[in-house]
Amino acid sequence: MIRILGVRVDEITMEQAVAAVERFIAAFRHHEAASEQRPAQIVTINPEGIWLARGDAAFAEAIERAALVTPDGNGVLWAARQQGTPLAERVTGIDLTYRLAEQAARQGWSVYLLGAKEGIAKAAAARLTEQYPGLTVAGIENGYFRDREQQVIEQIAAAAPDILLAALGMPFQEKWLFAHAAELNCGVAIGIGGSFDVISGQVRRAPALLQKLRLEWLWRLLADPKRWRRYLVIPRFMRAVKKQR
Ligand code: UDP
Repeated sequence: MIRILGVRVDEITMEQAVAAVERFIAAFRHHEAASEQRPAQIVTINPEGIWLARGDAAFAEAIERAALVTPDGNGVLWAARQQGTPLAERVTGIDLTYRLAEQAARQGWSVYLLGAKEGIAKAAAARLTEQYPGLTVAGIENGYFRDREQQVIEQIAAAAPDILLAALGMPFQEKWLFAHAAELNCGVAIGIGGSFDVISGQVRRAPALLQKLRLEWLWRLLADPKRWRRYLVIPRFMRAVKKQR
């Protein structure tokens, strides 16, 4: 584990993350009878998240107590290099989602899709089952449920999914999963931000070339200029990392 601006990031590759999920699910299935088992929470942390966690105690606690904190975003890799503790690769929420869906179809793990606007999670589930035949979808629910939160929690618990994919946006998803961990009755819970919007085809992910050039952020900004405020933290994040050296 390393720390970037005091925030935990695990030294883990995509393959190691998938292997860890396999262990978490084996433990979940083993202990399922004995309830009160908290899901293994996975946080995929980007520079914006690191910055937010410094001023948000509940978010910081969810990160500290998570089972896994993966480096999401080139900014995290950059910061790790700057401080002389380089990380192997990015493990983003969306890439992890695809890899886990693939493994889930292969190993018979069930997935629950929670989040995004009405109909989007359903469309994402359809895309995933098309791409990974045999994938078991334990349930689908949109991410706007504040007025029927308890019902949604009970619905997830009754479905007892091996993996809960929560695309509710950061840092709400991390705090929500942490706060309700004891009630959710799932093996692994992971916050994946806007991933259902991309998987469903609603939003196009940056072409591979732009990803390679580390310009994915620019693509997202151009696609949704309202996001510009979020990028203000990047120069601040970079200055803080440099100052720390
Ligand atoms: N969202 C949701 N419930 C909410 C607020 C947001 O399900 O109460 C969804 C929203 O529809 C979108 C995702 O959460 O699909 C947030 O996407 P964004 O790209 O902003 O996530 P981030 O990368 O910031 O985590």
